[in-house]
Amino acid sequence: MTKSISRISKTQYIKGMQCPKALWFYRHRPGLAPKIQETQQQIFDTGHDVGSLAQQYFNGGVEITEEYYEIDKAIASTRQYINDGKETIFEATACSADGGYSRIDILQKSGVNRWDLIEVKQSTMLKDYHIDDMAFQRYAFENAGYDIDKSFLMHLNNRYVRFGDLDLTQLFILEDCTDIIKNKQAEIPDKLKTLLAVANSEDEPVIEIGNHCSWPFECEYAYHCWQGIPEYSVYSVFAGEKLQQLLSKGIVDIKDVPADFDAPGRKIIDVNAFKNNQVHIDKNEIKNFLDTLVYPLYYLDYETIFPAIPLFDNSSPYQQIPFQFSLHIQEKQGGELRHIEFLHTEPNDPRPEFVKALIESCGEKGSVIVYNQAFESRINNELGLTFPDDKTKLTAITDRMIDLLKPFRSRSLYHPEMKGSASLKRVLPAFVPEMNYDDMEIGNGGDASMMYLLCQKDLVSAEEKNTIYKNLSDYCGMDTMAEVRLLEILYNYSE
Ligand code: SF4
Repeated sequence: MTKSISRISKTQYIKGMQCPKALWFYRHRPGLAPKIQETQQQIFDTGHDVGSLAQQYFNGGVEITEEYYEIDKAIASTRQYINDGKETIFEATACSADGGYSRIDILQKSGVNRWDLIEVKQSTMLKDYHIDDMAFQRYAFENAGYDIDKSFLMHLNNRYVRFGDLDLTQLFILEDCTDIIKNKQAEIPDKLKTLLAVANSEDEPVIEIGNHCSWPFECEYAYHCWQGIPEYSVYSVFAGEKLQQLLSKGIVDIKDVPADFDAPGRKIIDVNAFKNNQVHIDKNEIKNFLDTLVYPLYYLDYETIFPAIPLFDNSSPYQQIPFQFSLHIQEKQGGELRHIEFLHTEPNDPRPEFVKALIESCGEKGSVIVYNQAFESRINNELGLTFPDDKTKLTAITDRMIDLLKPFRSRSLYHPEMKGSASLKRVLPAFVPEMNYDDMEIGNGGDASMMYLLCQKDLVSAEEKNTIYKNLSDYCGMDTMAEVRLLEILYNYSE
């Protein structure tokens, strides 16, 4: 029998708000949570970077250093610092009489025995899910006897442009959320009581899977609750009323969707292709797309980093900074390929060299094939703003872009193995099974970005850097070869 508890943390409260069963798993099945992924670790690391800069902003504060489970000690230390006359306390801790305990990033004195609560987030704006988070903190502190003045969200300012040393007063925005947070207070006691009861129950709550499993956060127990659901199911295709119609008839597998089911828009193509295991082909639309191509073709792909804290002058929080491109050039249909690649390996801003190499490599005529044009054209636009002397040439490259994603997204050509997605990582192995990213050391843009940042921040040895650069080169080159092969596929299906 699990030991009874009389209080829950803000993290557990937020988890329970999304799904009481997730809170129950957290309390009763601790072994069920999967190990932390590398990308999640990177998010936490970024959070720590932002958190420590926020502490520098409030220079001179003192920090509660007790471990997260030493709640009573942390509460006592907070009180002690206040009695000692401290005016800024990081990680201050309080617990309401009915068992809600919370740490606040910054407790800041605002008047005689009055305090502001400041929650630091690495986002660039207030998001819906921040509100419950901050409301719970205010509740914990007010009900522990603190006289709370304002509730602030301290987030990054994506309009800040770095020049020289970081200007913390510009990097951060303190958003006053007091009114909206106060309006949430009345609902907290009942919710807290309910979630405490869930946490203390020996019985697993009966809660069906649904949209709440991925909103506002991807639930860590999804692998457990969703076992038995096919990877591609009615949940993947439908939502709302249509989904409920099928579930109410016990239909989960796409293969069981009735032939006369009124699936909206392109979904009918997806469902029928999957049920019949047949490729959907619209030859006219494919031909129309191919007619837009002008040779020579330049198959292009970028890789970027987007650090929360700008690393370079003339860049902003989360701005995409391109550091690598791959380019395959083909003079005529089915002709030889020439490969050019650029990878910046110096510990400084990659953009000046990137722009120079790009303009030199892309020529002046012929279509520039990209997969998901919104990304590459946005990078070019931003580069044009940063380097106005090169703007015209960058715009000319953008104007020549043809988006290879379009015929797949529009279902001019659709393979059942695409399973509703037109992403390159799904389309390529569907049509070219011998080419996939599974065995690559770096197999997606997120990993490419993370590994490159390790090099830029000098967190790996020279030898590891060389391995990373080699893997990055393989990965980006694979993306443009994928474009080459998918265009061949379109030609084949147009005949
Ligand atoms: S996967 Fe879904 S049902 Fe299962 S615990 Fe998470 S949110 Fe709840």
